[in-house]
Formats: sequence, structure tokens, C-alpha cells
Amino acid sequence: MRVTAAFSRLLRLPGIWVRQVSFEADRVAVTVALRRWRLVCPDCGYTTRSRHDTRPVDSTWRHLDLGVWRLEVRARLRRLVCPTHGVRTEGVPFARAGSRFTRDFEDLVGFLATTADKTTICRLVRIDWDTVGRVITRVMDDGLDPNRLESLFEIGVDEVSWRKRHNYLTLVSNHRTNQVVWGAPGRDTATLDGFFDELGTERSRTITAVSMDMSAGYAKSVGKDGHAPKAVICYDPFHVVALATKALDVVRRQVWNELRQLPDQSVAKRFKGARWALLKNPTDLTDYQAATLRKLRRRGGDLEEAEVAYLLDRFCSRASRSGLKPFVTLARTIRRHRAGILAAVRLGVNNARHEALNRRVRMIVNRAYGFHSSRAALALIMLTVGPITHVLPHERPTAPSG
Ligand SMILES: [Zn+2]
Repeated sequence: MRVTAAFSRLLRLPGIWVRQVSFEADRVAVTVALRRWRLVCPDCGYTTRSRHDTRPVDSTWRHLDLGVWRLEVRARLRRLVCPTHGVRTEGVPFARAGSRFTRDFEDLVGFLATTADKTTICRLVRIDWDTVGRVITRVMDDGLDPNRLESLFEIGVDEVSWRKRHNYLTLVSNHRTNQVVWGAPGRDTATLDGFFDELGTERSRTITAVSMDMSAGYAKSVGKDGHAPKAVICYDPFHVVALATKALDVVRRQVWNELRQLPDQSVAKRFKGARWALLKNPTDLTDYQAATLRKLRRRGGDLEEAEVAYLLDRFCSRASRSGLKPFVTLARTIRRHRAGILAAVRLGVNNARHEALNRRVRMIVNRAYGFHSSRAALALIMLTVGPITHVLPHERPTAPSG
């Protein structure tokens, strides 16, 4: 078997034949030619037989390593005139538009990014983290299930911050599949408007409930004409608990700072770590509360709307009377959103699974801190908890070899 034929079978790239193989200092260079005569616009797939010109230099793509060797694919490409995109270099069947890597290489990186950390990926595949970001963005654009926005009924809208809280992403999840189906940079009304624009009026109509947190302007977007004005807004109890925890922390820090001024430091020391005792002191519970708590434990956290309403109102009136400013504010916030909190309990759109999804997203975002683009951070999230099936090069059906 000739070397060129051997490399055709080794590479398994679609639509090419190998012209020449050369070993260089740090890489194997494989020069290939396209089998097809027609030129294809890389942006829209428009094809033509007429060539504008041929590029004066070879284009190169990094392919999967061959043992310890880097493998570089080279080809002399032609240019065409696309009626939509003007003069463009023709697309190739083995790489995504605008990429210097083959599809096989990119799919491997996309799969690795869902499970391995920055150091592991960069060392293993020998590319830097921002390049990983660009690769996974292309994998996301190409590989997400095109039907992900069909049949949405109960959805959740969440914001996540990344890069030290200066950047935000808005994520929309499908409660039924427990997957993130849409995302975009930003966290205001306009950001979510972008989701409804993409969804369109027809598909927006099926949405019956939207869960969200209480601070963002998402409700405003949901209520607009053509969006989902009839959907029930649900305020996730998970977010209510987060707000209460924050209020408690503020009060606790105030007390802690006062205690630290005292000459006797043992009081301050005893106070530290008392937060959970404060929350759970059983002698403070009324008979009804104690019974509710028992029921709650027995049923694994499943409460009915009336019980939640009772506990919520009771908490609010106590918080208002506490004289502690963070709790007075919290009570006012909860009262204003009472209907939405109870709707969340009634419809059960927020559940342990959704919280688990949120926790996972936060873990992924921690890994995305090194990226400089929010699209890359979004890609990492979508590739990990979005509707996508990762197919590795060896799992794909064999292309006809030549
Ligand atoms: Zn085009």
C-alpha cells in the first residue's frame, strides 16, 4: 500500500483524497485534494461550478494527533462568489466554517470540555483555553438539537454570573426534560425578549408556567403581547430561601461585628457558627409547625399550597415585627410575590431536579471563568446540560475511504 493510500484510511476524512505526506520537525503534514468539483459557500451551502480564483497559499487544519505527532491537513482551496455572502473561500466537508481544526478534532474537544478541567484539556490537546472556547462555540452552534424549542410547557429562567460577577448569562430551561434549551449574555427584560423573538408567537403560546427569581426583569418580558402573557409566573421557593439566608447573613454579620468590639472575646467565639442553631431550635416551634415539619420530613419536602401559605404568612408577620431591617425588607419582598411563590408550590414546576440543574450550571460556570467571551461560557453550559449528543470520531459511521 502506498503511503498516500495508507493515510487516506488513517485520517478517515470525508470528501478528500491524499496527495502527499511529509514528516516535518514537529508534525506530519498531509496534503489533500477535494473530491468534489462544485464549490460550496461555507456560510449557506450555496453551490456553484464556477470558480472565482484559487487561493495563493494552502489552508491548514489541525487533525487528531497521530501518536505523539501533531497532524496537519493542508489543501489548496478555491474561491467562489456567493449571491448572499460575496467572495468566499469554499467550504470543506471535514471542517466547520472558519475553523483551523477538523470536525473530528473539535468534537473531541467538545466532549472533553463537558468532563475535564482547563489544565487537563489544554495539556492533552495542546491548545490554549480561549481556543477551546472558540472550538466549543462552533460545536454548540452545530450540534444542539434543532427541536429544542418545540413543545415547551413549563420553563425556568435563571441568571448566572461568571468572571467575578461582572458578566451575566440568562438561561432558559425546560422543566420536563431538565435541560437548558436557550441562553444569552445579559440578565434583563431585553435579554429574555431575545428568547421569545427566537421562539415566535406560535410556539410561545404553549408555555403555561415560567419559574424565575424575584429580582430580575424577566416577568416583564413574559407578560408582553406575543410572548406568554397567560403563563403563570412562579417564584421558585429555592430563591425565597436564598433571599432569607442572605438576610440572615447580614444580621449575623452586624451582630458579629458588635460582639467583636467587646473586651470578652469568648462571647463572639460562641456566637460563631450558631446560625443553624438559630434556624432549627425545636422549642421555638408551635405544635402546628412541629407537625408540619414532621410531615415535611416524612414526605421528603413535599408541602401543600395551604400549608405553605400559612407558614409564609406567619414568617412574614414575624419578620416584619422583628425590627431587623433586612428581615423587614425580606417580608415586604415575599408579600409582593406571594401569589407567584404559591403558584410554584401548586404547579410543582420547581423541584429538586431543577435545583440540581442550577447547582450543576454553577459548577460549570466556575470552570468557564478563564474564558474571555460570554459565548464560550454559554457553550460550556450548553454542551454539558443542553440538548446535544456528543459523537466521538470513532463512534461515527465510517466514511467511504479512497
Ligand atoms: Zn453564502
